[in-house]
Order: sequence, then structure tokens, then C-alpha cells
Amino acid sequence: MKDSGRQERLRSLPAVDELLQEKAISDAVDTHPRTLVVRAIRNVLDRSRQGILRGEAPFDLEGFDRSLLVNEILEELEDLASFTLRRVVNGTGIIVHTNLGRSLLSQDALERLHLMGSGYSNLEYDLAAGTRGSRYVHAEAILCEITGAEAAVVVNNNAGAVVLVLNTLAQGREVVVSRGQLVEIGGSFRIPDIMARSGACLREVGCTNRTHLNDYEAAVGPQTALLLDVHASNYQIVGFTAEVSLKELVELGRRHEVAVMQDLGSGCFVDVTRFGLQGEPLVQDSVRAGADVITFSGDKLLGGPQAGIILGKKEVIAQLKRNPLTRALRVDKLTLAALEATLRLYRDQDTAIQAIPTLKMIAADLKTLEDRAHVLVEALRSSISESIGVGVMDGFSMVGGGALPAQNLPTKLVAMSSKEMSVARLEAHFRGYTTPIVGRVEQELFLLDVRTLQPGDEKIIVAAASQLST
Ligand SMILES: *Cc1c(COP(=O)(O)O)cnc(C)c1O
Repeated sequence: MKDSGRQERLRSLPAVDELLQEKAISDAVDTHPRTLVVRAIRNVLDRSRQGILRGEAPFDLEGFDRSLLVNEILEELEDLASFTLRRVVNGTGIIVHTNLGRSLLSQDALERLHLMGSGYSNLEYDLAAGTRGSRYVHAEAILCEITGAEAAVVVNNNAGAVVLVLNTLAQGREVVVSRGQLVEIGGSFRIPDIMARSGACLREVGCTNRTHLNDYEAAVGPQTALLLDVHASNYQIVGFTAEVSLKELVELGRRHEVAVMQDLGSGCFVDVTRFGLQGEPLVQDSVRAGADVITFSGDKLLGGPQAGIILGKKEVIAQLKRNPLTRALRVDKLTLAALEATLRLYRDQDTAIQAIPTLKMIAADLKTLEDRAHVLVEALRSSISESIGVGVMDGFSMVGGGALPAQNLPTKLVAMSSKEMSVARLEAHFRGYTTPIVGRVEQELFLLDVRTLQPGDEKIIVAAASQLST
């Protein structure tokens, strides 16, 4: 395109004020802040200008179609006006789905969030003495009650908890870890890197598949600050393997007067073997084994808000509280409110399993899931076009969140396929719905696992599916 043509096209773009006079756009000002409407207009005009300068012709010069421009502005406005953090339907069957927000909170936790978020609280106020208090007391008593620990402190997340403990107990000194436990959790949390950042020196022992007590023992010396046990939460080493138990590490630590830390990762308070899941250690057992300090997440298997929970011996926890890093990692009142409410549910395990969504989803029995899947399939059949096939299939759910990596929970899936569109387009349609629906694609089928659907999600799925035919 010639330069003169470009100039002419640029001049043909309407001015902001002119566009604000357009009926559809002036209507939008009634429902959206004017500044946002103006921003949408500017964004679209800028993009059009750049397009023209690149030699593209977004609008026909002769029959300049302003309605195209107006529609683009209205779409841009919808984009700008929508929340970036949105509710989605989790049909993946991954219960603790890190990308989809990990844990759902119990009703009890939600009520406390509302109460503590809408009013003042004694967050850092000692009501008995009428003086300044500490925010760190709030979850401590209940944590000790449930786990048997001497003391506890809660920080922002478990990654922060690990950094804090390493920095407090081992800065400038050595931490002994098995080579089989130098894990990457994801989101660039790698034990060796975290160790370096916290100022501790990593002392690797053993081999990837086998580490023995004498490997640890040989590494212990005057430089040793800590023996660290990391729970292999998101992977498994199988075959010819050997690991040292926490109890053995504790004995070794005692003999050499070296503290023992365990990063449990998930943090499970109830025995999940009765739901067919093996190998997730109980927090209570780690406390009983005598670890000096134990860290785990609040929002993995525990089913509470994001938090890093640290249990330990009184002196260790007191030392952690004195570290200025604790202030940098400090936990918010909303977190404490939700966490305390979640923890109280664990006073009775059956109550916890019923009330905490993460546990309830793990505990859901296959018959209930099958019934729900059939109800959803019937609802879908009556509202979608003939070209979409739906049915119930067997499958597996996953705990996720780095917990119980190699184990699957048998489940029921609702499977969809279309004669008219590819499974990729089908998946994109559901993902792009007003309330996005995230599922799995396997063997040319779009799959929704009913285990991770929440009450009301079925309605959303049916509404999204019914738009497929139009
Ligand atoms: C998940 C995990 C962490 C990090 O916990 P966040 O709560 O995500 O910060 C640390 N260590 C282990 C072993 C984990 O599984």
C-alpha cells in the first residue's frame, strides 16, 4: 500500500468523541465507567492504526463499516470489564488442582472469612490484658491440640515455611538431604535452589534410589545444622529402593545433637487408606516420631486456605518467631480465620470428611458418582443437538497438588464428542464459556469427571452444551 493510502486510511478512523456518540457505545456508558469505555475505544483505535501502518486494511476505505469497529469496541469493553480471577468448573478430576485454585473451603471457613473480613478483630490484640498481642497465637493452640506438637507458627505458604526454617536453623551451615529427595515441586520451587536462597549449604547423601542411615551418619560433622527429610510428594521412586525412616533420622539427630526437619508437603490429618489411598504420612505420626520441626501446606490435603504450617519443639518455634523473615512471610487475617475454622473441623474426623470439600471429594463413593454422571448425561441429552454424543465412562480421578502421585481413584466420567466439530474445538467451547469449564481430552473425547464438580456445576455444563447447537 502506498503511503498516501495509509494516511487516508488513518484519517478515516473516527475520533474517540465521535465513537462515544454511537448509540451502542453511549448505552455502554450507562452500565460501565466512562473511563473504561474510553479506554476500550482507544485500545481498538490504536490496534487499527498499527494495523494500517503495517499495511493491513482492517476496514474497507470506501464502504467503511463503522458497525464492525463498534462491535470490536464492545468486545474489548467486555474484556476490560471482566474479572481476571474467575470462578471455573473443574471437570478434570484432579482434586487439589494447583492451576485451578487448589482447595475449596468449607462452609465453616467461608463464614469465618466473612465475619473477620467485614469486622474488626483481635488479630494482634490481647483481649484479656487490653494490650498489643500476637497474630501468631490464633492457630497455634488448635494445631497443637490436633497434632500433639509442642508449638506452631503459620506463615504465608509452605515454600515460605521451608525457607524460614532453613534460614533460621541452618544459615551458613550444612543441611544433610538424601539425593532421592532433591525434588522440584513445580513453579520453580526446587529444594537445592531454596536451600541456596535461604543461606544454607546443601550436603547431598546417598543415591537417587537408595540412601542408608550410614550415608547420613558419615555426613554429620561440626558443620551440620540440620537433617532434612522431604516427603516425596509428587513422584515415586520404585524398584530397588531404600529410604531412612523419620524415626531413624531422629535417633541419629539425637545422638549427634543435630535438629531434624521434615517437609511433609501435603499435610494430612486423617487416615486416607480407607478411601483406597496408600502412603500419605499423617502429620500426627511425624510429630510422634520426634521431628524437631515439620512443615506442610494449608491448602493441599488439609483442605484449608493457602498457608505454610510449621510445627515443632518450643525452642525452635520461638527462634522462628524472632527471625525478621517471619514478618516478611506473615500470614493474613483472612487466612488465619479460614485456617482456624478448618482446623476445628478436624476435632472429629467424620465431621472433617463431610465438611471439608477436599476430603469429601476423596471420600465420594463410586455409586454416588455413577448416579451423578447419569443424571448429568440425561440433562445433556435433553438439551443438546443430535450431533453431540454423550455417555458415561469409567476413569480415574487424582488427588493432585503433589499428593499421592501414583494413585488413582476410580471414578465416572461424562464423555462428549461431536460429529461436526473437532474435540479441540469442543474443549475450547467449554473453556471459553462465561463460567469456564475445564475438562480433559482423551482419545478424541471431551471428558468431565463428576468427582470434582460442585453443586450447581451441572447446570452450567448443560447451559454451555446447549449453546453448542446454536
Ligand atoms: C507443595 C510442596 C511445597 C510447597 O508448598 P506451597 O504450599 O505450595 O508453598 C514444599 N514442599 C513439598 C514437599 C511440597 O509438596
